[in-house]
Amino acid sequence: MSIKTAFIYSDDYLHYYFNDDHPFNQKRLVMTTDLLRQLNLLKDEHIVAPRSATDEELSLVHDLQYIEVVREAGHTDGELAIAGSYGLGTEDVPVFRNMHEATALIVGGTLRAAELVMSGQYRHAVNLSGGLHHGFRGRASGFCVYNDCSVVIAYLRKHYDARVLYIDTDAHHGDGVQWAFYDDPNVLTLSFHETGKYLFPGTGNITERGDGQGYGFSVNVPLDAFTEDDSWLEAYYEVLPTVARGFKPDVIVTQNGCDAHTFDPLTHLSASMRIYQEIPKLARALADELCEGRLIATGGGGYDIWRVVPRAWTLLWAELSGQRIEKNIAIPVEWINKYQPESPVQLAPTLLDPEGLFPAIPRRSEITTKNKNTVEKALLYCPKG
Ligand SMILES: [Zn+2]
Repeated sequence: MSIKTAFIYSDDYLHYYFNDDHPFNQKRLVMTTDLLRQLNLLKDEHIVAPRSATDEELSLVHDLQYIEVVREAGHTDGELAIAGSYGLGTEDVPVFRNMHEATALIVGGTLRAAELVMSGQYRHAVNLSGGLHHGFRGRASGFCVYNDCSVVIAYLRKHYDARVLYIDTDAHHGDGVQWAFYDDPNVLTLSFHETGKYLFPGTGNITERGDGQGYGFSVNVPLDAFTEDDSWLEAYYEVLPTVARGFKPDVIVTQNGCDAHTFDPLTHLSASMRIYQEIPKLARALADELCEGRLIATGGGGYDIWRVVPRAWTLLWAELSGQRIEKNIAIPVEWINKYQPESPVQLAPTLLDPEGLFPAIPRRSEITTKNKNTVEKALLYCPKG
């Protein structure tokens, strides 16, 4: 059955653009919406335009001085000397023209999603350009200028006094969001990611559990490199319902980075498309069970824009808009023909990865055991239901 879900989108999202050589490439948004349209899953009536976040809204999380520097850097030709002190002008976050305006629109898109869901007009809302989970209070980091996830959570706290469950399934630790609410018992941050041993940002250890009143309200599940679907999903299905039922949120915010796929060039996890079918299924079921469906979904990382992101986010949207795809289906030939000429890799012919496509990982049982231990420890001090 179809349900009322908003797809927040504007072509202006494409202005969040670092340079041609940067792995963060918003072309993935174009490819995703195109695929959704061709599969007849996305229609004009789903689409809601974003708005810009105001400085006041951004400053719920970010320092005003930082906001000023972002604005100035994006309006200055040549280098702004002070930018480096704020994490700008680095290899990860190069300065680009109008970077303040481009990022404020993304944050505003996630705020719009929150307004639609909290007013009861929509059951769920999706802002795929969001999910900039590495942005800090006063510093850009990991391809993220402002942190829309943190701003929307602060906004939900301030305007709706809501208890917020944040679920982050990006392969990288959701550090910016965790640190922003580290001592807040009304915000529970839960991150499933590749261990920080060999991956940016290096944090997300099980022992990062929160501080003061917020102790137990930061939950981390750092998975071993080369973790495959079964072990990834075992951790997800073991931890998420337990924590969600214990915490009893008023609203759920999800970050849906899809860089845990084995094709992703930046990380070392070995998941297939199957986890992207399961992730939103459980998140949505818990939102229905615990908070009258209130669910705000953002995008996030995803650096195989050809084979992974459009398919993963198609599964996300299909689930959240009540158009669940149970069986594997073919990717429309027109879509493949349109993008294959510019793709450096062979595009996938089906929405899910057929079983047996990827060779088994040699240390499989060792990794599975390690992850089981991680799950056990992750659940030690958090709310449990
Ligand atoms: Zn990531």
